[in-house]
Amino acid sequence: MSAQYLIIGCGFSGAVLAQQLANSLDCTIEIWDERNHIAGNCHTQRDVQTNIMVHEYGPHIFNTDKKEVWDYVNSFTKFHSYIHRVKAISGGAIYPLPINLQTINQFYKKKFSPLEAKEFMDKLGDKKITHPANFEEQALRFLGRDLYEAFFYGYTKKQWGCEPYELPASILKRIPVRFTTDDGYYSNSFCGIPVDGYSAIVEKMISHPAISVMLNRKFSVEMDVTKYDHVFFTGPLDAYFNYCYGRLGYRTVSFERNYAKGDYQGTAQVNYCDLDVPYTRITEHKYFASWEKHTNTVYFKEYSRETTKDDMPFYPKRLDKDKSLLMRYRAQAEKLCKISFLGRLATYRYMD
Ligand code: UDP
Repeated sequence: MSAQYLIIGCGFSGAVLAQQLANSLDCTIEIWDERNHIAGNCHTQRDVQTNIMVHEYGPHIFNTDKKEVWDYVNSFTKFHSYIHRVKAISGGAIYPLPINLQTINQFYKKKFSPLEAKEFMDKLGDKKITHPANFEEQALRFLGRDLYEAFFYGYTKKQWGCEPYELPASILKRIPVRFTTDDGYYSNSFCGIPVDGYSAIVEKMISHPAISVMLNRKFSVEMDVTKYDHVFFTGPLDAYFNYCYGRLGYRTVSFERNYAKGDYQGTAQVNYCDLDVPYTRITEHKYFASWEKHTNTVYFKEYSRETTKDDMPFYPKRLDKDKSLLMRYRAQAEKLCKISFLGRLATYRYMD
């Protein structure tokens, strides 16, 4: 008899797993998702008014260094190569981000060569911080106070709702500093946007006859799932345990949809680094698909806030108190059999 598997959550983790299982084992797979669509937070659909492909839960730019991963996603859909170029507004001026030669020269009103800029930045960094223990120390060590305050302090406080010294240094390490004029946001070898959006990829992944998907179906631990040989859970780890030890910290994001004639900001993403602007960034989605032509535009202001009971968790905060809570939940999870936890929410990690 073929094995029966249940996967909770039809985001990328659940869909890739289902696709791989269906193609390598004799099994049937059910995927349940509590939302009314597939693809989780990567869900894309065309905006009714403008026909622009919208990343409903914020911008997603596929990027990887692994050729194997790139070939895998390209086996489901065509990708257009795309270089993500982000602008940052700080103190009334607009700069390219990540910090690069152009940003440094513009910010300090200089004409540095790459070598001069590097020497200059070396002097700016706080050498007393030898092992940066948090976001702020990482910034002060490698950027110095002026650039930290201009581009990272306000944005990070809005994004995470706490002081940057409470956050891990790894968050800042996501963003490179370059001494060339390369202003691409990602340094990975492969970067692109799927021609028909991300939901189309997930749809193809789960189109195997052994896979069936049930939408609007919420899992709870009280449900009898003993008929399945194995359950794979991709939801929030604390939710699986009914928050018995308390809630893991997450930030949630809300998006204010706006329309304009023609173009709004002339690029896909502008970050607002100053604290007096309540949103973190504005994304204009037609710029993710430059091969399409649209007369008008739709753009989104992004607001970050603390997650409460009914909010959708987006960014795992991983503060010290969260990490000790996570250890307790993980210890519980490890005692269970016939269930595995995977993905951003179940492993409580800030994943791309
Ligand atoms: N960040 C910042 N200013 C910016 C962009 C990013 O301070 O203009 C910080 C912020 O703390 C953010 C982190 O860098 O959470 C990582 O940025 P990334 O662009 O990777 O965030 P994501 O796109 O995942 O929201």
